[in-house]
Amino acid sequence: MNYEQLHQENKAQNVQGRYITLSHLSDFLAELPSSMVSVLGYSVQNQPIYALRMGTGKTKVFMWSQMHGNESTTTKAVVDFVRFLQGKSVLAIEFLSQVDFLLLPLVNPDGALAYTRENANGIDLNRDAQDRTQPESQVLRKAFDDFTPDFCFNLHDQRTIFGAGLSGNPATVSFLAPSYNEEREFNETRMKAVDVINAMTTKLQQYIPNQIGRFDDGYNSNCIGDTFQFLGVPTILVEAGHFPDDYERETTRKYIFIALLTGVKSIYEIDIVRNNIDKYMNIPQNIPNFYDFVYKNIKFYCDDSKIISNFAAQYKEVLQDHCIQFRAYISAIGELDTYFGHITYDCKGQEYFANGVLAPKVGEEATFMLNEQSSFENGCLTS
Ligand SMILES: [Zn+2]
Repeated sequence: MNYEQLHQENKAQNVQGRYITLSHLSDFLAELPSSMVSVLGYSVQNQPIYALRMGTGKTKVFMWSQMHGNESTTTKAVVDFVRFLQGKSVLAIEFLSQVDFLLLPLVNPDGALAYTRENANGIDLNRDAQDRTQPESQVLRKAFDDFTPDFCFNLHDQRTIFGAGLSGNPATVSFLAPSYNEEREFNETRMKAVDVINAMTTKLQQYIPNQIGRFDDGYNSNCIGDTFQFLGVPTILVEAGHFPDDYERETTRKYIFIALLTGVKSIYEIDIVRNNIDKYMNIPQNIPNFYDFVYKNIKFYCDDSKIISNFAAQYKEVLQDHCIQFRAYISAIGELDTYFGHITYDCKGQEYFANGVLAPKVGEEATFMLNEQSSFENGCLTS
């Protein structure tokens, strides 16, 4: 089975880029049979929270995405996954006969519209699992309680700062079987999540070797994944991350699709717990050791003397005119020798100059000249 081709065939062409709101999903939702779609509740700003129910199998799989409004990649992958399930292929029919799906493709529609992590009240829904002060948290929990899933997929995006261990590769996809207690023990529930992650990792290694990370498993009962794991339902956290030159996350979207397909398939194909904890622990840890840009060997003033050193810049994502703009700002200055850049420039001792200033400054735009010859704009060398 060629999973990349399968994704190409099922990719929703009208759901693209980083800015994904309910209105971007309207055509997709309208094409689905109405019996499949329901509204489970409403956000703070009264936008509907949709649920899709598909399949007649005995294993219940619950997935939700974009509980953080600016984390849209997994929503795109879920849309593609639903289109695959709707596609009537032999494999899709097999999935639907094995699994009963409940999918919430956009848990935080207000945050999606404003392109914020939090909801309209400024609350991080992934820290509201216990108190459930927010309508979106209540909808998600009620869906969980009513559906009584056998497995949960908690779908997120992560920033470009994460590398897969010390490999110098970005963590394009990261996984976590969240802890259910402070001691971070592994019980049968957590091991079932580990098995699914192992299956997804094995498949993804074929496509993005050494670009898969394992997220920190510190226990926090306010996080939704930790709570569901504690309640005895195997829960898998999936984090969509950076693939080189893919800031729109259209390539990562494909790998999330492949991960979902593989993960779900493994659930109904594996009926014994394999307990392969070593394999899971061997996935390199996510380490925040990347910047979007690293500039090496630049001459600049530091405390009244000229030195040759390095600095880094990081994009800020800004919503403007219904689009996400990426704006590079200087974010660190110094040796930075434990860091990697998604783009690295060796500036070979050339001298820094920007707006009459001869030293880079954290917080300023990454627009500057070197030796008054080469010009960098918004992080990138332009001439
Ligand atoms: Zn998130």
